Formats: sequence, C-alpha cells, structure tokens
Amino acid sequence: MELICKVQNYEWGKKGLESKVAQLQKSASSSFPIDESLPYAELWMGTHVNAPSVVKETNEQLSELISRQPAVLGEEVLRQFQELPFLFKVLSVNKALSIQAHPSKSHAKELHSLYPNIYKDPNHKPEMAIALTPFEALCGFRPLSEIKKFLESIPELQEIVGNDALSRDCQLIQCAFRAVLTCPKKTITKLIDSLLQRFSESDKTQRAYLHADLVQRLHSQFPYDNGVLMVYFLNYLKLHPSEAIFLGANEPHAYLSGDCIECMACSDNVVRAGLTPKLVDVDTLCSMLIYTGAPPTEKLFAPTREDEFSVIFRPPVPDFAVIKISVPAAENSYSIITRSSASILLIISGKAQYNNGTVVPGTVLFLPSDEMITFTNLEGELLIYQAIANV
Ligand SMILES: [Zn+2]
Repeated sequence: MELICKVQNYEWGKKGLESKVAQLQKSASSSFPIDESLPYAELWMGTHVNAPSVVKETNEQLSELISRQPAVLGEEVLRQFQELPFLFKVLSVNKALSIQAHPSKSHAKELHSLYPNIYKDPNHKPEMAIALTPFEALCGFRPLSEIKKFLESIPELQEIVGNDALSRDCQLIQCAFRAVLTCPKKTITKLIDSLLQRFSESDKTQRAYLHADLVQRLHSQFPYDNGVLMVYFLNYLKLHPSEAIFLGANEPHAYLSGDCIECMACSDNVVRAGLTPKLVDVDTLCSMLIYTGAPPTEKLFAPTREDEFSVIFRPPVPDFAVIKISVPAAENSYSIITRSSASILLIISGKAQYNNGTVVPGTVLFLPSDEMITFTNLEGELLIYQAIANV
C-alpha cells in the first residue's frame, strides 16, 4: 500500500529543494508545491498522531487500517506492542538541533508521572540516524583524556570549571559538564567573546585543534548559548552516506547538519540542555547521562549483511530495526526478505516496478507482515530503506 506522508516545516530544516525531504516529496508527487523560502525539516512515516500517514488509495489513516486489521502488524508485534512501535523519518538539518538525551523506559515512566506536561508519554525513545548526505553530529562523551586536555589548554573553560574539578579524575566529566551548562549568562557571554578573540589570533593548526569553525558556526546559530561549548565535551562525528549512529538511553547527542534517515520508538521524550529555544532541563539531563568517554569510532553503529543486496541495522531494542536495500542498476530484479513484522519502505533513489505499480524516489510503502515484494529495476541503482519492528 502506498502511503502519503506529512512534512514538518520546523525552522531548523533545510530550505526549498536543498532539503532531501522536499526533494523526495517533489519526486513522489509532482504537484507537491515547493516554496524555496520554507524549511522542509522532517518527513514522518507512521501512525504518530502529530502527522499520521494516510493510505493513498483509500485516504484512510494507516493507524485506522491497523486497528481494523491488527493482524497486518505480525503476531509478535501485536503481542508486544498492539501498534506500530516505531516512527520512521527523513531529516534535513540546516541548523543544529538541541543537545539532548532520551530517558530509559523506567525513567520515562517516572518523568511522565512527575511532569506530564513536559514528558508527555511514558515510553523510552531510542533512535537511530543513518546518513543520506554527509551528516554532522555530536555524540557521546569524548574520551576523558581529550576532555581533560581541552580543559587544561583552553583558559575560558578552565575559568568555568575551576582548578578544583580538574584535579579530580573520577568525577571530572560530570562536574565540568554541569559547570558549563549552569554557567551564568553574563560569564558565558564574556568567556565566549574571549574564546572568539583567541580564535582570531590563532594559526590554522591551533584553530583546527580548537574546532574554531564549528564553535563559530554554533555561536552564529545560538549566540552565547552554553551549549556551544559542548564541542569540547562530546565527540564530533561526520558520517558518510550509509553510516549510522544509534542513540540508546542517556546518550548525549545533537544533530548539526545534513540529511538522514531516522527511526525511533514512538515517543516524544527529549531532555534538552542547550542549543535550543525550547525548555532546557539541565538537572534531569545531568543526573541521567552516561559519563563514560569513548572515541568517535566506537559511536558508529555497524550493520549486518543479510544477503547480496540487503544489510540490517539491528539495535538492542525491540522497537525497531532498519534495513538498507541497494540493488545495482545491472541487476534485473530483487525480492526483499520476508519479515515477521509490518514494515515501511522508503525509496531514496532509482525507479522500479513492483506488484502494484512503479516506485520512484520518495515513494513510501506500507507492507503487512509476512508479505513479499519483488522489485524489477527500471532505471539506475535502487536504494531503499525499510523500517521494521525488531521482534
Ligand atoms: Zn535525539
């Protein structure tokens, strides 16, 4: 079943046809109007009430179809979740998204019962991002030695954190991280100005070491925001297309720029600490994070090969897994692997024929569990991402 999916025009999105979201929508439906001055931030594929997908042929909401015919979910998905447990998205990021982490299931329950207006559901929100274009993100704490080196060599950080914290190794990341995020506006303004001055007096090597370009960019997007200095605490990653990161519970992260596929459990629970006009909850964030540093290479999430054309990104949660299917132009046809879960497929590139019609970039299909599709290549390399429940 082909789906019609909704676009979210959040202000941080890429504008007009620069945006992968807009490109895919335009390709799938030539009548989709593109306003070059409008941001096209997210494409939502699934049953979430904020932007529910609709079955193209019948105009029925996918959620209604599922409640009418729950068997389409697959037996195990139905038993564990009684609904489609994931939300599948495309993101086109022009401006940094907030520094955030997502609570564990038990913590989400607690937060939701204490602050139902802020944490609106009791579910966890593990998420995975797979790059479609070069994609920048901050992800997880840097190794302790790296953070320590920044703290010792950048006087502005030293002033915030204090020598006292620096002398302690065991709680250094916690103390320094909290000190930066809670630093009063007046002090942070003075210190960021001083840091920018330092950049202007630095040579190329020094600027690269200080991540001057990135700090300046974040400062231009969020002037004098405490979160700008998180560059010295969190790993900076630049994903190539097809590379992925998985954000489990309590892992600090921020998406900075680029287009990606994103899949997550159905939840809105985000604890934010900076680079955002939204509510920040530094206390909750600081109390929940995983403070173990690790190098950026350890943050990449590797897929497992399933057959010649299919690899699967299978995170350690039951809510979702994502499959990347790439069929070279020379290959005539490919039958995708049958799954015991309902799935959503998004065509990224290529053109192919399948049982009911033709798919082009931007086509979104809903496939009931245990059903199969054979794609026959018509044009170019076929690239598809498929989201399933990981049961
Ligand atoms: Zn997140």
